[in-house]
Amino acid sequence: MYHFFVEKENIDKENHRVYIDGGDYNHIRNVLRMHPGEEISVGTGEDEDEYRCAVDSFEEDRVVCKLLFVKASGVESPAEIILFQGLPKADKMELIVQKCTELGVAEIVPVTCKRSVVKLDAKKSGTKIARWQCIAEAAAKQSKRAVIPKVSDLMTVKEAVKYAEGMEIAMIPYELAEGMKNTKDLFEKLRKVVEENHFAGGKKKVRVAIFIGPEGGFEEEEVALAKEAGIVPVSLGKRILRTETAGFTVLSWINYILEVEGTE
Ligand code: SAH
Repeated sequence: MYHFFVEKENIDKENHRVYIDGGDYNHIRNVLRMHPGEEISVGTGEDEDEYRCAVDSFEEDRVVCKLLFVKASGVESPAEIILFQGLPKADKMELIVQKCTELGVAEIVPVTCKRSVVKLDAKKSGTKIARWQCIAEAAAKQSKRAVIPKVSDLMTVKEAVKYAEGMEIAMIPYELAEGMKNTKDLFEKLRKVVEENHFAGGKKKVRVAIFIGPEGGFEEEEVALAKEAGIVPVSLGKRILRTETAGFTVLSWINYILEVEGTE
């Protein structure tokens, strides 16, 4: 089933109507050639409600849909995962945003590290972030996410560490970290904390911070700064992974241990 995002105002619960406009109007009508009666799923990208609708009619610039029912989408991770990504070279960030969205990330914070080759000034970073946000939206649509991950403004390592303060689980994959025991312990703790929160009926999700270095890795002092703030250095195994692979790996592991309930 096709999935679309609309602004909150486009959902009229009282009259059981949902309106789809913008680029999706043309897509639904002329590309997908959908007909009245065909079912689609709609979300706001901001919460986990899924609005199941049937295409009803086409107006000049919007598709009018009939709202059939609302349900919890159930596709979002039980944890709020925040990826702090050391700014990589060229187009790599686009791939990272796309794949991490598929893998369930809640927020991506680009971080300028000492060894980041790319340096973005305020103007350039604004354009880049807007582009990455668009990629997150497209990937959320494709992977049928309910929530569109937020791509935040560029931060320094110091700012990122401060931002992660208070997040229940925080890790910094570091190739010089010793063995996998710490990693396994931290993931076990993550599972427990999320489970406890879930059983206690926690309204707020457990937040998980992941710090990944750029191609050149983190400098020792950056890791020390994170460590001081309680962010745990962990190994991801014996081989050195590329910066993009490191994030994908951690996210996949988190999905594996947290997605215990059956998927529909
Ligand atoms: N410059 C380093 C590797 C950096 S890899 C070197 O060539 O030795 C980029 C980032 O991926 C690292 O900063 C780290 O966060 C993560 N990473 C890659 N492989 C890892 C591993 N085996 N264990 C933990 N983190 C790893």
